[in-house]
Formats: sequence, C-alpha cells, structure tokens
Amino acid sequence: MDVPLHETLDGQVALVTGANRGLGARIAAELDDLGAVVYAGVRNPEYDAPGDQRALELDVTDEEAIRAAISCIEVEADRLDVLVNNAAISDPSGSTLLDESVSDIDAVLETNLRGPMVLTKFALPLLLRNPGGRVVNVSSGMGALGEEMTGGAPAYRVSKTGLNGLTAYLHGEYHTDGLLANSACPGWVRTDMGGESAPRSVEEGAATPVWLARFAPDAPGGRFWRDREVVDW
Ligand code: NDP
Repeated sequence: MDVPLHETLDGQVALVTGANRGLGARIAAELDDLGAVVYAGVRNPEYDAPGDQRALELDVTDEEAIRAAISCIEVEADRLDVLVNNAAISDPSGSTLLDESVSDIDAVLETNLRGPMVLTKFALPLLLRNPGGRVVNVSSGMGALGEEMTGGAPAYRVSKTGLNGLTAYLHGEYHTDGLLANSACPGWVRTDMGGESAPRSVEEGAATPVWLARFAPDAPGGRFWRDREVVDW
C-alpha cells in the first residue's frame, strides 16, 4: 500500500519494549539505522544495547518502572515519536482454558495487554506533543476474531484480541490529535517464541512493524496490518 512515510527518523525518538531479543531487537536496530534515538526497553539492567541504542530498564508489568522509563525519556530527549509495544509472553505450550492455571492466564494478560495499555497511558503526553506520534502494537493473527480460535494458547489469543482493541481505542480517541495507532501481525517468525520451525526470518517479521513506525502524518491509523496490507481484526 502506498502511504506517506518518513524517509529518515533523524531527530525522532522511539521506545521499543522487549528490545533485547527476537523481533524487538531487530525492530530497535532498524529504527536506530533509520536515525532515531532508540530507547531499548529491557528487563535486564545489565543489557548492553547495540549501536547507538540506549538501554532502558522496563518491565511492562511494573507501573513504577513504566513511570520511571517515560520520565527518563522526557528528561533526556523531551519527546517521543514512536512507541512499539512488542514485549509479550505466550501460554505454556499445549494449554487450553480447561487446563491452564489462573496464574499463567494472569501473567499473559498482564504482560501482553495490561502492559501495553499502561505504558501507552504514560507515554501519551509525549506522543501527543508533536503531530504524527505513532503507536505500533505488535499483535498476532492468533488474536483475530475473523480467524478460527482453536489450537490452544487461550490467554495469548485473547491478549492479542485485546491489544487490537487498544489500537482501535487509541485511534478513535486520539487520531484527531494526530496520533497514528496501528497493529501489526509479524507472521510466524523464528524467535524464542516462534520456534525453529517457523517459516519467517526475524527480518521478515520486523518489516511491517518498522514500516508502521515510519508512518508520516496523514498515513492511516486504526488498522491491523500484515505484510504491509490491511487484514481483518
Ligand atoms: P521472544 O520470546 O523472542 O521475545 C519476547 C521479548 O519480550 C523479550 O525481549 C522479553 O524479554 C520481552 N518480555 C517478556 N516479558 C516482558 C515484560 N514483562 N516486560 C518487558 N519485556 C518483556 O518473542 P518474539 O520476538 O517472537 O515476539 C515479539 C512480538 O511478536 C510479541 O508481541 C509476539 O506476541 C509477537 N508475535 C510473534 C510471533 C512469532 O512467531 N515469533 C507471531 C506473532 C506475533 P526477556 O528477554 O527479559 O524475557
């Protein structure tokens, strides 16, 4: 699809959650290459961020850590142009709702849905400060209501349905203020989460989230994307 894109992210600031491995590491590296100041949100305080990225301790389940991370970005950079809500966990392999523990359900929803919602809440004042702030929610076709919801991972599926709901809400409430909120499905990708049999490389999986992070004002928001095309929620 032909949409207005930032050719460079020079002078812009991005925050990527779960930036130490998998898709998040690749997305952070590409945004760094595009010229953004990239805050790599990570749980490990010892993380040595590559390139010009700045490591930022950020567990998305921890409200105090979220507040501290956003405050750090405000003090150091005084702006935030892109928030990539990438960090996530999955249910234990093979789980169905009948056998999944309540603590596992809580953990998945807390990380994959509450985390992005609370982080976005505290990031919004910075994202709205300049027109064209972007929220990229890394979602999954496993949460799409139009696809058959079978094959386990109940909390993961519902968390991604909810994350898409967050995208739709952000668009509805804030697009007239200039916010561009979109969801992306990276496809099935060879990461720790996706496993070795997945058909896609990390580069292929990161392509659409990075493309969404480059959306310029007047680009579409409030959509769910895969391979740079709109897909059903
Ligand atoms: P990985 O399991 O490889 O990486 C997950 C990342 O999330 C790690 O950096 C991890 O950090 C971080 N993370 C987990 N919990 C938290 C937390 N509480 N706070 C902060 N960071 C946390 O996953 P992928 O790279 O494969 O997945 C990235 C995104 O893509 C996810 O949203 C996933 O749902 C989505 N996706 C992936 C698919 C795939 O096939 N791989 C398919 C569809 C969607 P740590 O190292 O500290 O654990």
